[in-house]
Amino acid sequence: MKNVVIAGGGASGFAAAVFLARKGHRVTILEKNEVPLKKLLVTGNGRCNLTNLENLKGKYVSSDPEKVEAVTARFGAAEIMDFFTGLGLALKSRERWIYPRNDSAALVSRFLQLEAASLKVKVKTRERVTGIVRTEEGFTVHTETWQYPADMVVVSTGSIASVADPETVISNSVAEGFGLKTRPFLPALTGMKGKGDAWRNAKWAGVRVNARCRLVIDGERLQEEEGEVQLTEYGISGIPVFQLSLAASKPLSEGKNVEILLDFLPEMTEEEVALFLEKARNAHKEYTLFRAVTGLLPEKLADSLSEGIKETEAAARRIKNYVFPVHSLCGPERAQVCTGGVDLTELDEHLQSKKVPGLFFIGEACDVAGRCGGFNLTWAFSSAAAASLQIS
Ligand SMILES: Cc1cc2nc3c(=O)[nH]c(=O)nc-3n(C[C@H](O)[C@H](O)[C@H](O)COP(=O)(O)OP(=O)(O)OC[C@H]3O[C@@H](n4cnc5c(N)ncnc54)[C@H](O)[C@@H]3O)c2cc1C
Repeated sequence: MKNVVIAGGGASGFAAAVFLARKGHRVTILEKNEVPLKKLLVTGNGRCNLTNLENLKGKYVSSDPEKVEAVTARFGAAEIMDFFTGLGLALKSRERWIYPRNDSAALVSRFLQLEAASLKVKVKTRERVTGIVRTEEGFTVHTETWQYPADMVVVSTGSIASVADPETVISNSVAEGFGLKTRPFLPALTGMKGKGDAWRNAKWAGVRVNARCRLVIDGERLQEEEGEVQLTEYGISGIPVFQLSLAASKPLSEGKNVEILLDFLPEMTEEEVALFLEKARNAHKEYTLFRAVTGLLPEKLADSLSEGIKETEAAARRIKNYVFPVHSLCGPERAQVCTGGVDLTELDEHLQSKKVPGLFFIGEACDVAGRCGGFNLTWAFSSAAAASLQIS
């Protein structure tokens, strides 16, 4: 039996605690907040999108995508679903996105905590980990008020996404202290701010519209997503934008030119749009171009799109190929996840440090960020399983 200390009581930390305690290890979770699993409560708008039935390959950005594949192949959607149904939580699928049957993230949190309690996992809240030191026997985990000896340490402190006190997330500094490479946390799965003053209080704020969005980096057309885009006072948001932000995060930090090409009427060709507008204007001689466009798109959007142009062809071109120049992503406080973290090449297939045996990094503390759709919790649980498999 090993004495394992888990730094961080979030999704990955709790899953690891349960897996390890089931193997008979003595497990202590150190959590800085008053209550654990706080972020889990807000996942999926409080409904908690636990995992996804799609192939997990290609759904992650990481310093070592093959390792992510290997880890998620060993413990993927099927195993995660078994794990939760085994706890007594019924699940359901919404177009392959898996949720608890009653759409309650709070229940996921409660079931994880009850299982941990029944396995006698010690959960110490208001215990902020400040450092981890190697000793002859193993490790000492330092908190603000105490020191915990451990045979093995699992770091599961997450990333700085949606965190009120990002300076407390110590995974990168712990890793660097042991000589491991890290990558800075950068926001991902978040909205995009437009370039220039024009985007301050954009007229289209408040509109939600189905659109096809294509990511263009330094003129190269890349990934495409379609779905409901939210138009805001700072720019664009919504799931398709979040998906593209994952790929845009690093290029933006490197100063590359990033644009989103928006097609506001993906179900029509440019010619069909032009014809529709032309017909509307021919039928109603008093119609302005703006009035004609409102027959196709919400008024606030029609206003933005018809600004400064008079011809129907030009309007159709703009509706189908609207160029949104990206200044930056929204900050980490608004992001669902971050890219960056401990470089995965520093960790073995069980997410144990190659340089420091006995020290593991799991969840978002690792340089792994997934698409929207349950892929991030999938990584949290898969990585927890990978680490606990190794600790015997
Ligand atoms: C609004 C929102 C919606 C989301 N929706 C989904 C979704 O539906 N599906 C999905 O797959 N993913 C979703 N995610 C992402 C998902 O929540 C994270 O990827 C996941 O929680 C990461 O788990 P983790 O254990 O690595 O980190 P976390 O869950 O962030 O847990 C880390 C824990 O460590 C604690 N901690 C940090 N520093 C210290 C310290 N120094 N000492 C002690 N404790 C510390 C934190 O307080 C926290 O409890 C969402 C995220 C957000 C913000």
